[in-house]
Amino acid sequence: MKLTDLNRHGEIGANCIFLQLGSFNILIDSGLNPKKLGYDALPDFGPIENIDLDFIVLTHCHLDHLGSLPIVTAHNPKAPVITTAPNVTLAPRMLRNSINVMKRQREEHGIAEYPLFLHRDIAQLTQQLTIQRFERGEVYRKGKEQIEVILHPAGHVAGAAAVELIYQNRRIVFSGDVLFDAQRTLPGAHLPKGAIDTLILETTRGAKGRESGKTRASEVDRLIDQIGRILERGGSCLIPVFALGRMQELFKILYEARSFGRLPKCPIHAAGLGMAICEYFDKIRKQTQLIDFDIKILEKMDVRAIDLNMRPGRDLPRKGIYLVSSGMMVEHTPSYKIAASLLPHPNNGLCFVGYCDPDSPGGQLLENRDEASFFFDALDYLAPLRASIDQYDLSGHADRDELLEYAEQSEARAIVLTHGDQNARDWFYRELKRHLPDTKILDPKPLEAYEI
Ligand SMILES: [Zn+2]
Ligand SMILES: [Zn+2]
Repeated sequence: MKLTDLNRHGEIGANCIFLQLGSFNILIDSGLNPKKLGYDALPDFGPIENIDLDFIVLTHCHLDHLGSLPIVTAHNPKAPVITTAPNVTLAPRMLRNSINVMKRQREEHGIAEYPLFLHRDIAQLTQQLTIQRFERGEVYRKGKEQIEVILHPAGHVAGAAAVELIYQNRRIVFSGDVLFDAQRTLPGAHLPKGAIDTLILETTRGAKGRESGKTRASEVDRLIDQIGRILERGGSCLIPVFALGRMQELFKILYEARSFGRLPKCPIHAAGLGMAICEYFDKIRKQTQLIDFDIKILEKMDVRAIDLNMRPGRDLPRKGIYLVSSGMMVEHTPSYKIAASLLPHPNNGLCFVGYCDPDSPGGQLLENRDEASFFFDALDYLAPLRASIDQYDLSGHADRDELLEYAEQSEARAIVLTHGDQNARDWFYRELKRHLPDTKILDPKPLEAYEI
């Protein structure tokens, strides 16, 4: 097997792995790097430019896995894009939103190449989407060769799949983004057990172990207590969330907390793509039963749209809980704007519930939360930090010890590290070497072809 990581800047970036097994040319995911702009955000498609892909697998619909797929399908109009039923529903919606964001960025940053694809490319991609059920193998043939593809539930987010390829009795497993814990909206990962030839493993949380005694359930409890305290002192609570997945889970957490009398009634303000995704989740639940999210809870909770014409520094005109994207408080998003109004007022509170890249405004704010003020570049506003700022670990990724344990039981001949910052990959490299001394561990350099 030949493996080339097309994610040109390494780290988490624009996920895209090119595999060659016999005569099969296979691509797994094709993302956009959320920290880069323009062509620099794309994978480097150089190695597949003159190659006809036999098929593509889409693991899930976060943009770091999906965001550049329309460019690949435009060049490979015959290749099926194998994925799960929820992803077939979600992918076109996520991509349409991405076009809108790129059009806005074209104006703001003068990026001439934006948008990187058009609505007609999404239509083309949609035609190529091929639903495959979890845990049911499909065989693809080419000449005398054949390969079996099996998708396994990966937890993480609605529709997320791990990919198993069986070629000449070799099992190759690509973990994708994985969460073993169940979430309120979907069950945890169920990865293939037993001996694996090659394991391609995500390493997102490699840099830091889970603090002892902290579980997902105890973090949810801590979060609800803090929201309760903020409301009690007459403040508003901002929870920045990813539009796909985390927002819907938070709706369910708030709904259940209220049903059990653990939170007082108050308006919930929400906006943007995440609200549209709620409707898609409801549809997916009805069609597939793969997720658990009923849109009716939004009505029951009195969820309201937000007027985002607020002035930085002036407190939010309406009290309540603000559940808005982006999760990392990226510039120009609702969470960024709302934070600029919320933070100067001591009754208010901000609760982060997931990972924030250290370079993102959310990451910067967390690092400097003990300072007297925080500068909102995009608003040219220096905000005094008077509200409470806390972080809760409701990550969508398995912690490193769980992944290490999975890797160990696989007794893989080779393990390839992906989807992690360098220090995260380094931890896995070291620990895997120690636990599996006979296994070949590979932290692939971008664009280098490895024979495995
Ligand atoms: Zn993801
Ligand atoms: Zn990812």
